[in-house]
Amino acid sequence: MFTCVGYATEAADQPLRPFSFERRDPGPRDVRIDIQYCGVCHSDLHQARNEWQNTLYPCLPGHEIVGRVSAVGSAVTKFKVGDFAGVGCLVDSCRNCPSCAEGLENYCEKGQTFTYNSEDKVSGGLTFGGYSQAVVVDEGFTLKIPANLDLKAVAPLLCAGITTFSPLKHWKVGPGQRVGVVGLGGLGHMGVKLAHAMGARVALFTTSPNKAEDARRLGAEEVIVSRDPAAMAAQAGSFDFILDTVAAEHDINALLNCLKRDATLCQVGAPDKPLSTNVFGLIFKRRNFAGSLIGGIAETQEMLDFCGQHGITADIEMIRMEEIETAFDRMQRSDVKYRFVIDMASMPAAA
Ligand code: NAP
Ligand code: ZN
Ligand code: ZN
Repeated sequence: MFTCVGYATEAADQPLRPFSFERRDPGPRDVRIDIQYCGVCHSDLHQARNEWQNTLYPCLPGHEIVGRVSAVGSAVTKFKVGDFAGVGCLVDSCRNCPSCAEGLENYCEKGQTFTYNSEDKVSGGLTFGGYSQAVVVDEGFTLKIPANLDLKAVAPLLCAGITTFSPLKHWKVGPGQRVGVVGLGGLGHMGVKLAHAMGARVALFTTSPNKAEDARRLGAEEVIVSRDPAAMAAQAGSFDFILDTVAAEHDINALLNCLKRDATLCQVGAPDKPLSTNVFGLIFKRRNFAGSLIGGIAETQEMLDFCGQHGITADIEMIRMEEIETAFDRMQRSDVKYRFVIDMASMPAAA
């Protein structure tokens, strides 16, 4: 065991603050990564503040992790000390259920182990995430980082990248299609970049008209203000696919109405309150309202390699660890361009 310092919270109404805890030394298949950067996902905020009412405290968030390998177990083949490595939202799964057998560890039927807020089936206790100095992970749940990409801007790919890449692939987004991305935050800006790189014609649905110029720079050809009923009505029946990344309650029916017959709106944003659906919007055009959870490990590597080939990373704003609560508050107000990333060199040496 070794002592690790991170930032954790003990309760929904408490801020994140320095926290010391123990991590296991690497077992035969484990990789120890000294964390250099960790992205700040809206899920970290939902979880720290118990908005989904399933938080296990103490809660130490962070699942967009990149850093340098500082130790490897005797059976590790993927990395050597000094290599760069990444970890996303998953650190373990059962590895033999039908979903795991298909490489869909994200949908493990026996219960996947998330990078934080899960029971740690290897070390006991809870898993603690990337707002910390180091992490120890089975090499099967680690990712290789394309050498040509800027490491700190790669961090958000580990959640925001794969969460948008996976549904875009699953619903076969590509040339000749009109694709909508809803919300220009961490996930949304990756969705715009990735759908554009896959060859689709991308439109951004936003509540922030002042993000229009950025959206065009990121790859959107159109920007639609979702709070303008006339602008929304004008899009009726015209989209092949819509990816909704919104983190709060919003009108899903106006978006469903934008889909063509048989088309799909995939929800990846995870508001704490149910979204109310008018079934007639589905029935009359046989539309689909779907969801998607991050992605499997092999697909996450495929996404990173795709980003390497296309030179895609996140647009980031670096913060110091002690600025996390300010970052959460700004994220809550949709004021982030377009992902906060924590510089782990700012972590205090001791809690
Ligand atoms: P984020 O950076 O805060 O972005 C969310 C964006 O949604 C905002 O920037 C804003 O964009 C829009 N928005 C916010 N409030 C809104 C409202 N009331 N009505 C309409 N639009 C609103 O968050 P994120 O990190 O991208 O995460 C987004 C959601 O995805 C969170 O709920 C998170 O937990 C979830 N998530 C899900 C998965 C999964 O596997 N399914 C994985 C990761 C995250 P505009 O300013 O452009 O309107
Ligand atoms: Zn996330
Ligand atoms: Zn499984």
